Formats: sequence, structure tokens, C-alpha cells
Amino acid sequence: MFVVEGKLIIICAPSGSGKSTIIGRIIDDPALRLAFSVSATTRPRRGSEVDGVDYYYLTEDEFKRRIAADEFAEYQEVYPGRFYGTLKSEIARINAQGRNVVLDIDVLGGINVKKMYGDHALSIFIAPPSVETLRQRLMNRGTDSAEDIERRIGKAEFELGHQHYCDHVVVNDVLETAVSQVRHLIDAFVNPNDEQQ
Ligand code: 5GP
Repeated sequence: MFVVEGKLIIICAPSGSGKSTIIGRIIDDPALRLAFSVSATTRPRRGSEVDGVDYYYLTEDEFKRRIAADEFAEYQEVYPGRFYGTLKSEIARINAQGRNVVLDIDVLGGINVKKMYGDHALSIFIAPPSVETLRQRLMNRGTDSAEDIERRIGKAEFELGHQHYCDHVVVNDVLETAVSQVRHLIDAFVNPNDEQQ
């Protein structure tokens, strides 16, 4: 198991559940000392995504070479032929900054990391109010093909069926409420000795 110094915050959520918006709203909160772990993936770049910021985009050959070289703390084939993984070097980079690591990973990856790191990790599942809302959000985003949307909906249904494996579930119905709930959960976890308001 790869040793981590800071705490791990695992955010699991089907795509389209608004998790990126929520993470974006809390990542710079100075009280939480967070840094986002940029995953590696073999999926193509989407919309305005930037290499090294949203993901490290790798070819499948390169990804498999790194699996063989034991460079991943965890990885999953999230969709058939599409690999996603957390590089150990990414966690080491964040540890060196003395920050807590935010992992945006799929629910199976999240369950594995939680098993590996136990009390050192907090897992939060962000759920959409309904699968129909999710479909609507993915369609409004306009970055995925109809086929991709259906694949993501299928995966979302699977992930929703596993949400109870996470420490907490936050329903993203009203964004402000969800942001505040996630912020509080992380604050209580990374600053356990502070009095919670
Ligand atoms: P998307 O293609 O929408 O960016 O991500 C698809 C899914 O892959 C999401 O559920 C996301 O959380 C998951 N994912 C992203 N990075 C990783 C990773 O490093 N490891 C695992 N296991 N899942 C990841």
C-alpha cells in the first residue's frame, strides 16, 4: 500500500451529478488545505479540458506500461476500454505540499481506496436527485454523444446501487446546500479538534 501523509477525501459521483462544480467551490478553502489529485485516463479530452489540469491524457499503451511499472495507487477500467487511475506521483506531490488529497474517482475505486486507507480516508457520494435529472444535465452539458450519455446513465445506475458503501451520501438538488454539506463533512474530518459551528 502506498503511504499517504495527509488525509484522503474520496468524492464518488456519477458524471453529471455536479461533483466538479462542488469540488471547484471548496478546493481553495484555506481551512481545508486541499489539493485535487489529477488522474490519468485513456479517454479523449472533452470540451475545454486541459491536459495536466483535468486529467493526464495517456494512450492505452502508456497507461498499461505505467500499470506494469506499479505507478498507480489505484486504477479502474471505468468504461470498457477506458482506463482511469490515481498516480502515486500525484499523491506524493500533494503530500509534499502538506495538503489533504481530493480524489474524484468512480465508486469501485473509492471502495478500494477506503478499504486500503480506512480512517485515513473519508468517502462522500454525491447523488443526483434522480436519474432523469442526470440525463437532462448530461444532455445540457452538450459534450457527450447520445451513445456516451446512455453509457454514462447505465454506469450511474450501477454507482447509485453502491452509494451505501460510502461514508456519507449528499444529494445535489440545491447546489448551495450540497456545497455546504460537503464542506462541513470535510472540515469535521480534516480538523477534528476544531469546534464545529
Ligand atoms: P469522466 O469521464 O466523466 O471525467 O469520469 C468518468 C468516471 O471516472 C467518473 O466516475 C470519475 O470519478 C472516474 N474517475 C476519474 N478519475 C479516476 C481515477 O483516477 N480512478 C478511478 N477509479 N476512477 C476515476
